[in-house]
Amino acid sequence: MAKIFCIANQKGGVGKTTTTVNLAAGLAKVGQRVLMIDLDPQGNATMGSGVDKRQLKLTVYDVLLESASITEARVTSDKLIAGGCSYDILGANRELTGAEVELVDVERREKRLRQALDPVQHEYDFVLIDCPPSLSMLTLNGLCCAHGVIVPMQCEYFALEGLTDLVNTIRQVHANLNRELAIIGLLRVMFDPRITLQQEVSEQLKSHFGSKVFNIVIPRNVRLAEAPSYGVPGVLFDPSSKGAQAFIDFAREMVERIGTL
Ligand code: ATP
Ligand code: MG
Repeated sequence: MAKIFCIANQKGGVGKTTTTVNLAAGLAKVGQRVLMIDLDPQGNATMGSGVDKRQLKLTVYDVLLESASITEARVTSDKLIAGGCSYDILGANRELTGAEVELVDVERREKRLRQALDPVQHEYDFVLIDCPPSLSMLTLNGLCCAHGVIVPMQCEYFALEGLTDLVNTIRQVHANLNRELAIIGLLRVMFDPRITLQQEVSEQLKSHFGSKVFNIVIPRNVRLAEAPSYGVPGVLFDPSSKGAQAFIDFAREMVERIGTL
């Protein structure tokens, strides 16, 4: 049965999508069966996996509205297949913005994704869900079906602000909707060790959150930022780059961890 992880942080631009697609590609590279779900109407994880969001016939929106199953809506990417790190993609585009409003009167609307995942969960080792930068109904759908949350963070002055809201939301979901949900870990991303402030915040994180901070640190690396414009994860775009290597190590760590979850 797949382990399901949300990559979430309601702060924008902190590296959620970069983490999702590179972890997915890294896991695929080490032989794991992966489904990536794009829960963000921006569709960046979809595009960053080499799938044109404008061409998609069915997306996660149709799945949430129960007009399609995941089996019908998931796609693969030629670029990922050619690169030897293929994972399945349940894509998203702007249409998903409407889901929030359309589901407003629906009972158990926060459990829609969970129900849809049930029949396909056994086909994968990992399901990774890229959440939007908000604590909306979409993120809630992700949290309701996940075993754990991975929180990418930049080690900047305001990094800890907002983390309280995320932690409280996760606690509430755990208490009321999904007893399995746990914070798997905080992932330091876009890290530049030459910047003293980043080192200080990193130390603060470790003293506050202890073992909940992943040992692996994702460096700031321009190859990771360039990759999306080629429609591939950095892990495939430049496998020897420092950023790609860090994500491969992270994928290995996750494989080891699921044995211990
Ligand atoms: P949003 O909240 O809008 O969904 P996000 O949290 O998903 O954003 P990303 O889109 O992954 O964040 O990253 C924001 C920007 O930072 C992107 O331009 C991305 O290419 C760049 N970026 C992410 N990680 C790194 C890194 N390790 N090194 C360099 N650039 C990075
Ligand atoms: Mg994103």
